[in-house]
Amino acid sequence: MSPVVVVGAGPVGLSAALGLRAHGLPVVLLEADPEGRERPGSRALFVHRETLGLLDGMRPGLAAEITSYGRTWHTRRTLYRGREVYSRTFPAPTGRPPFTSLRQVDTERFLLDACKEAGVEFEWGARVAGVRVMPTGVVLTAEDGRTWTGTHVVAADGARSTVRRELGIPLEGSHGNGFHVVVDIADIPGAELPLERVFHYEHPGTGGRSVMRVPFTGGFQLDLQCHDDDPHEAYGTEEAVRRWLPAVVGEGYEDRILWVSTYRFLRKVAASFTDPHRRVLLVGEAAHLFPPFGARGMNSGIADAAAAAAAAAAGTVAAVEEFAEVRRAAGLFNSAAAGTALEHLRPARRIVRVKQRAAAALAPVLPWCGSWLEHAPYGPRGGAPAVAGRKY
Ligand SMILES: Cc1cc2nc3c(=O)[nH]c(=O)nc-3n(C[C@H](O)[C@H](O)[C@H](O)COP(=O)(O)OP(=O)(O)OC[C@H]3O[C@@H](n4cnc5c(N)ncnc54)[C@H](O)[C@@H]3O)c2cc1C
Repeated sequence: MSPVVVVGAGPVGLSAALGLRAHGLPVVLLEADPEGRERPGSRALFVHRETLGLLDGMRPGLAAEITSYGRTWHTRRTLYRGREVYSRTFPAPTGRPPFTSLRQVDTERFLLDACKEAGVEFEWGARVAGVRVMPTGVVLTAEDGRTWTGTHVVAADGARSTVRRELGIPLEGSHGNGFHVVVDIADIPGAELPLERVFHYEHPGTGGRSVMRVPFTGGFQLDLQCHDDDPHEAYGTEEAVRRWLPAVVGEGYEDRILWVSTYRFLRKVAASFTDPHRRVLLVGEAAHLFPPFGARGMNSGIADAAAAAAAAAAGTVAAVEEFAEVRRAAGLFNSAAAGTALEHLRPARRIVRVKQRAAAALAPVLPWCGSWLEHAPYGPRGGAPAVAGRKY
């Protein structure tokens, strides 16, 4: 029986491979990097309950493994220019938590182990360079000339997807101005910061730039929203982070910086999630790019992966067409939701900032104003089939 070939061993490709094995299909996973590669940074931290449910459906027990390693906080706080405008502590849930937070590299480790146990065949150091699609299957050629044939290909080869490019499918959408800075910091053992997510509008210690702190196992991620005209050197280098860090989290963390990265605001969705023969299925960042706020990237990518595995298992043109339509609709929904979040986070219009300032002033007497400030940075939530954004 010909296998399904998955391209890319990021979180989405690994999930697709696991999903395909759960449907009983033989799977070959081609990854450009060598085995044992090191992946940098915390990146996508937040794994939704819906995503945990999908992963557990592919490998019973996987959600419990991931959540027992990740962290779940029950307190969310929002501040505006140094003053708290919202704070809520939720009761600890019984059963599966609403989310768990761990570095992407840890999520990938759990997924990789699960794939190996499930019998996924890995080809490391296999950089796909050519794609030939026929009505009956797909032939992939690597840079070194090796070839693989599959009944279907699940393309999870990331933002610069070679498979997407070879099929001539454009990414459509926009990119915003400016950048934000993502920093990973290790906890100080025995003096960990409170286990809570904190969003601070116009932080006085960063010259009025908004900043968010999100815990993960062993440390926390800071996300600083720079102004459109900020020079990279002023905020986005490790040296610059050392300068603004004490104002945000106190002294003692300058030497605990693990990773610094800057990130632009892309909102793009592939014009199609499949080819004319319905043999290639685009998933994850090969199919769509969203800004990280709202945790839409990896979570919606894993939803794509589950849907792609089901479509490839059904094996019909109609099933692949339905996958492509439903997941592209989810991508467009998520892109629009991320746009709404960005309008709030990085307001182009003065009136939005004025509304935020008014809400902060009124929050002590009108709690819904604080609640609006708490929820708006992440954009609207969507239900199935979008698996859209959710607040940290
Ligand atoms: C610097 C950075 C910071 C980020 N920060 C955040 C964040 O703070 N929050 C958040 O939610 N998200 C963040 N993201 C996005 C998040 O990491 C992605 O949503 C997620 O990695 C997408 O997973 P994926 O599996 O689709 O793609 P990827 O993780 O990119 O995996 C693609 C895989 O395909 C492989 N590959 C590529 N080309 C080929 C080829 N031709 N042949 C074979 N293999 C190939 C790559 O080596 C890689 O292993 C960040 C991303 C980056 C790069």
